[in-house]
Amino acid sequence: MSFTDEEIERYARHLVLREVGGPGQQKLKAASVLIVGAGGLGSPAALYLAAAGVGTIILADPDEVERSNLQRQVLYADDDLGRPKVDAAADRLHGLNPHIFVAGFNGAFDEATADELVEGVDMVLDGTDDFGVRFCVNAACVRHGKPLVSGAIGRWTGQVGVFGARPCYRCLVPEIPPDAETCTAVGVVGALAGVIGSMMAVEAVKLITGAGEPLAGRLLLYDALAGETRTVRVAADPECPVCGGDRSAFP
Ligand SMILES: [Zn+2]
Repeated sequence: MSFTDEEIERYARHLVLREVGGPGQQKLKAASVLIVGAGGLGSPAALYLAAAGVGTIILADPDEVERSNLQRQVLYADDDLGRPKVDAAADRLHGLNPHIFVAGFNGAFDEATADELVEGVDMVLDGTDDFGVRFCVNAACVRHGKPLVSGAIGRWTGQVGVFGARPCYRCLVPEIPPDAETCTAVGVVGALAGVIGSMMAVEAVKLITGAGEPLAGRLLLYDALAGETRTVRVAADPECPVCGGDRSAFP
């Protein structure tokens, strides 16, 4: 796989970076990423991965663009109101980088669609705000051995982590919390979506290129009001309903 002169110019700041360079940029071009949820987190993640030259980006989202999305979902413009998010997003990403392939699935990520969406990609980014969908994404990633970059935000706090088959996301969140809150109900500061979604893109670039230490088995917590971050270990739960018991460990 070689690059055109235009691609070499486009990716110049990656090509001079020691941890990416030509080989890393080739890996980005060869990579395929599924982004579940083209909202507050999926928007910056998709924009940065498209700009980075990730060769195949699949977006899954059942919604249409609403006016209240525009406070943080930077993929969309006022003119996109009422359009399926995946259609508007694909146009925006193609406009940003015509060298990549973008496909949209305008539907729900659930048990019926999970396997087909996950099995063909190298990794999955989950930026949804529904624990049922998150559990479904996690289970599919474990079944297919795909790394999962997971982000979440609410009010002024956010978190991002990378999960394999062990520990998996369900080791961190065994059951749906009884006090689960949605951004619709409690609000979220728009720029926080940019922070956490961009961190998800950085983790994906690290996983693809092999640069640095991924947040695997770790969770980075960001408290925007305090201006503080901390990173905690996530232990594999032997009783985990997804990866626990006598399942063999995933490297
Ligand atoms: Zn688990």
